[in-house]
Amino acid sequence: MSWQATVLTIFPEMLPGPLGLSLAGKALRAGLWRLETVDIREFARDKHRSVDDAPFGGGPGMVMRPDVLDAAIARAAGTGPLILMSPRGRRLDQQRVRALAAGPGVTLVCGRFEGVDQRVIEARAVEEVSLGDFVLSGGEPAAIALIDACVRLIPGVLGDAETLAEESFSEGLLEYPHYTRPQLWQERAVPEVLVSGDHQRVRAWRRAQAERATRERRPDLWDRYSAALAAAESHETR
Ligand code: SAH
Repeated sequence: MSWQATVLTIFPEMLPGPLGLSLAGKALRAGLWRLETVDIREFARDKHRSVDDAPFGGGPGMVMRPDVLDAAIARAAGTGPLILMSPRGRRLDQQRVRALAAGPGVTLVCGRFEGVDQRVIEARAVEEVSLGDFVLSGGEPAAIALIDACVRLIPGVLGDAETLAEESFSEGLLEYPHYTRPQLWQERAVPEVLVSGDHQRVRAWRRAQAERATRERRPDLWDRYSAALAAAESHETR
């Protein structure tokens, strides 16, 4: 069985969207992964097919009804963890993406309006995952981003497995900078070491650049990386 993404949304026409193009789209057509969408609105009960209502306690906006969403989840038949895309969730990172990609798939609920009634989150033990500390107007772009990150890790989707081993976060570091032709552009030359043909020097330079970028841009990642390095070294010398 191939990896399966199941997406619950009131805008099923947003999918596959960008996932239908490029590498992900090619892999989808090749059957390397599957996509199911569930239209939450089909589970509305009233004649207006409403999926939302005003918040108890007052305040602006509308809230997704628990009964409608629960019915949609019950019928979804998705695989893998049941996740609500939510700015209140744990922030997505590459480690989680790797774990999700290695499993059978994911079932993603896309919130809209002010969010989802808390009771269905609790009743269905839905895990909340955030894309980052900013607010989208709906969960669909977040779901698409999560699926994209997973799909490119499925064996056979990317041509070159080495790409995955070297990219940002694979070793807890940001990636080194890239250069291509022309070698001289607007009076800017490509770093000399990259055209030296000395693979060992290239490797050392890239590693140093990755470390420097991480130290300068992401002190949080750097602290974790250097702590892990120090632990590994003290283990070796023992
Ligand atoms: N009132 C909410 C924001 C609702 S945004 C709050 O302040 O926390 C509407 C929907 O967009 C959410 O239910 C969620 O599904 C999605 N969404 C918004 N920001 C997101 C983020 N950073 N990560 C994942 N999903 C997000």
